[in-house]
Amino acid sequence: MFNALVMEKDEESGLASPVIKQISEDDLPHGEVRVAVEFSTVNYKDGLCMSPKGGGLVRNYPHVPGIDYAGTVEESSDDRYKPGDKVVLTGWRVGEAHWGGYAQKASALADWLVPLPEGLSTRRAMAVGTAGFTAMLAVMALEDHGLTPDRGPVLVTGAAGGVGSVATAILANLGYEVAAVTGRPETEGYLKALGATSMVPRDELNETTKRPLESETWAGCVDAVGGAMLARVLGQMKYGASVAAVGLAGGAGLPATVIPFLLRGVNLLGIDSVMQPFDNRLRAWQRVASDLPMDKLEAMIQPATLNDLPKLGADILNGQVKGRVVVDLNA
Ligand code: NDP
Repeated sequence: MFNALVMEKDEESGLASPVIKQISEDDLPHGEVRVAVEFSTVNYKDGLCMSPKGGGLVRNYPHVPGIDYAGTVEESSDDRYKPGDKVVLTGWRVGEAHWGGYAQKASALADWLVPLPEGLSTRRAMAVGTAGFTAMLAVMALEDHGLTPDRGPVLVTGAAGGVGSVATAILANLGYEVAAVTGRPETEGYLKALGATSMVPRDELNETTKRPLESETWAGCVDAVGGAMLARVLGQMKYGASVAAVGLAGGAGLPATVIPFLLRGVNLLGIDSVMQPFDNRLRAWQRVASDLPMDKLEAMIQPATLNDLPKLGADILNGQVKGRVVVDLNA
């Protein structure tokens, strides 16, 4: 028997609520690799999956949420993994359509897993988590489209959140000047310690403008916010620069014009972490291990246990989580 956070649905109300309980290996869905989960984390999607209606992501109950986890292989019917291997999992709709990492054991398909790169512990892998992995994918996409530190400042929106914090630390470590957009002025000290060189108040970018083009300011952007802010940022990009669109913390709409694309050759790059092919996943995790300073990662960590998860789920939906939550499954 082992501990798990299980979302159970009340048939009468149709609403789900979290229960922390013991389950057995027989309860786990079929998989090729059984993993002893050591750490997980809290993402926006986890907040949705722990909400009473499952955020439209969870279809079947009972359900174990947790869209990412890191741990040690206990048993594997696939040659690529053997007991004792350290692995990390993000994406593939784990924690949404499949049982996830909010349990001390999980079963996975071998294709979903990535061997942990040298120098990254399971704890630090979850300090990075889906948010940090996605931030790395965004930086890689900007680089693939010609971004270099000499081109000018890079904007990071939703900077004090998970994606934004990791993007800020990675970019600063790579020598970029980073402008951090936040709606929480009290996070200035935290963001500057991660390497942000300047702060941009959220309100300054959250309003729509009738002008499709403004001064050419940013050489690149990692955008976790979407909505009106993304539309505004497009009009402020330098000629030929790219925006990596990662998230929708500020809305799924895009009230923009095509003018920045047509007159300034601006690129809007979509970033998806869920279905990334294995080779790119491996490359991103290796880049995380080499390009994200571990002291800065440590500064982002907010430790948590299974019991803390329901509250943290609500907090992240309200934009109240700073940095990266690391859930210790054995605490
Ligand atoms: P967090 O909640 O940790 O961070 C989001 C940040 O966005 C907040 O901390 C806040 O930053 C800012 N924000 C929140 N609400 C608003 C608003 N109304 N207007 C402007 N800014 C706002 O989430 P994550 O960093 O984990 O994820 C960020 C986004 O990326 C989410 O939408 C998530 O779903 C998405 N995502 C997408 C992935 C993909 O594969 N494409 C993978 C992972 C995440 P501040 O307080 O600094 O203003």
